[in-house]
Amino acid sequence: MSVIATFVLAVMALVGRQQPSVAQQRPASPAAVNASILLYHRFGPVVKDEMTVRTATFRSHLDYLKQHGYQIVPLRTVVAHLLGKGPAPPARSVVITVDDGHASVVTELLPLVQEYHFPVTLFIYPSAISNASYAMKWDQLATLLHTGLFDIQSHTYWHPNFKTERKRLSADAFQSFVTMQFTKPRVVLTSKLGVDADMLAWPFGIYDDDLIARAHEAGYVAAFTLDRRPVTASDRMLALPRYLVVDSDSGRRFASMLPPDVPSR
Ligand SMILES: [Zn+2]
Repeated sequence: MSVIATFVLAVMALVGRQQPSVAQQRPASPAAVNASILLYHRFGPVVKDEMTVRTATFRSHLDYLKQHGYQIVPLRTVVAHLLGKGPAPPARSVVITVDDGHASVVTELLPLVQEYHFPVTLFIYPSAISNASYAMKWDQLATLLHTGLFDIQSHTYWHPNFKTERKRLSADAFQSFVTMQFTKPRVVLTSKLGVDADMLAWPFGIYDDDLIARAHEAGYVAAFTLDRRPVTASDRMLALPRYLVVDSDSGRRFASMLPPDVPSR
């Protein structure tokens, strides 16, 4: 056997021994996917802060999607397919997610959802609900669920900055803190709304390998970043990318966030 062949075999043996961590395991044959996940926060008549998209701007996004043959699909459809548990989403699929549970979801977004009839996934942090003045109330979230067009999922318990908390807390205290932030919203969302919150939006888009492993332990099957690209079959389930949309994202800027015509593998 040549020296090169011996070397190749040795490398293959080494690679073969490296098992992916359980959080990184994927179905044996990764599915093609062609979808962009959009992220909104607040809606209103005027841009009060950088996270507010004017309701008229959002309506123009919906019109653009409709006119150009995009289909708004539930986030669950994309996740189920990536997990090998469901059919492929249609070509040119777009997912609408809305983080933070702001009151304008009811006053501004809900009328448009009823008019255009599209699915939305909300990522909320339960500590704010029926508590913070800017947030929705539990009965409003129940009303949204009854429309059949909303899914409600976890954005941790109180939206911490994990980088700051890791510096502030001891290693043990940080581990307990992370466990609480991941497990409590699942318990609360089940008891308040009867939903199984097994999807997580990373607060501030902050995640790392340790947090991913912990989120997996807490029972999450998918988690979402702010990594600004379409979803591909090679993305990690607990770091699926989303596009943060702001009010100035219209026309070409909006179009640039939509999925390519050729599915990514
Ligand atoms: Zn947030």
